[in-house]
Amino acid sequence: MEINKNYKNLEASYLFSTIAKKVKEFAEKNPDKKVIRLGIGDVTRPLCKSVVEAMKKAVDEMGTFEGFHGYGPEQGYDFLKEKIQGYYKEKNVTLKLDEIFISDGAKSDLGNILDIFSKENTVLIPDPVYPVYVDTNIMQGRKIIFAQANQENNFLPLPNDDVKADIVYICSPNNPTGAVYNKEQLKKWVDWANKNNAVILYDAAYECFINDNNLPRSIFEIEGAKTCAIEFCSLSKTAGFTGTRCGYTVVPFELEFDDMSLNKMWLRRQTTKFNGVPYIVQRGAEAVFSEQGQKEIKENIDYYKKNAKIIADTLTKHNVWFTGGVHSPYIWLKCPNNMTSWEFFDFLLEKAQVVGTPGAGFGKNGEGFFRLTSFGTNELTKEAMERLDKMLTTYCK
Ligand code: PLP
Repeated sequence: MEINKNYKNLEASYLFSTIAKKVKEFAEKNPDKKVIRLGIGDVTRPLCKSVVEAMKKAVDEMGTFEGFHGYGPEQGYDFLKEKIQGYYKEKNVTLKLDEIFISDGAKSDLGNILDIFSKENTVLIPDPVYPVYVDTNIMQGRKIIFAQANQENNFLPLPNDDVKADIVYICSPNNPTGAVYNKEQLKKWVDWANKNNAVILYDAAYECFINDNNLPRSIFEIEGAKTCAIEFCSLSKTAGFTGTRCGYTVVPFELEFDDMSLNKMWLRRQTTKFNGVPYIVQRGAEAVFSEQGQKEIKENIDYYKKNAKIIADTLTKHNVWFTGGVHSPYIWLKCPNNMTSWEFFDFLLEKAQVVGTPGAGFGKNGEGFFRLTSFGTNELTKEAMERLDKMLTTYCK
């Protein structure tokens, strides 16, 4: 018996455990001080009314002979896929129903999709990055190269013809940087992928935070994307489904390599290894796409965006360089006074009792940067920014 030795190559992730330890120690030493957490990546607002009502109704159905649902289609019920098809139509993207696969979230599909690619492929991953892309490839032993995202390119690296890769990850709006690609920039990636016979794994988990029609919310808004891209979407941040679990992945029929259809391969993979998302959850997800549901989720997204603006305004006032915060719940700032990410973490905790996430935890290029999130309450975000304002005035001129 041999284990998968690739797991030995995974780096232990101490990021969030170190943060928790430091905060705990600080709180024990300073019981009178209130710590505000702006490091969380989870939503805090509850599910909207339409979703709750739809799920309650589905629960009742499940308790009757007529309305009971057992195993459903692994790739999702048509009632939900039709709604998603309509959602894409609003972005002028036409999808066939069987190009849409309902999942239990983007994280699973981002990892599982690697089943349909050879382990011999080279993957290109931006740095800094959502750590799942790196770890899932390490687990399968693929060669990883990094696309350098930095202050010079506003954390939006573009393709380079000298770089040879078979699979490339793009996340826009980005976690952790909040940076968003425009259509011209995405077109460069699409052209590069088509020319180099590569596949783009496009993570659109934060697309709902974009409110500028000129910015792409789907890679399929870009001409040529259907022959080179797979798109991963999630209701986690869109509709507060982080604990409810539902997402969807789009695999176009046009994606063909070595006479094999990636859509057919993914269907085979899913029908073999996945038994679908619960009926009750899919009914809740369906409600997200109703007119009322869209109105209700927008209220929550606007709530978080208001927080993002408060954070962004405070940084702008002090000339602190940052990306994100407009079309994203994340704000990625350059640590003042040339502090390292962890130095700034300690400084912010000590002087303002505000907790964020050190950028160094997201990759080499994250060093010297820091992530704040807008998923807290309006009140606490305001209070945290008042404290940050004072701190920057006093110590970081
Ligand atoms: N992709 C990115 C970039 C994320 O930041 C996250 C969650 O934080 C996910 C995917 C995971 O989404 P889901 O909850 O749908 O698995």
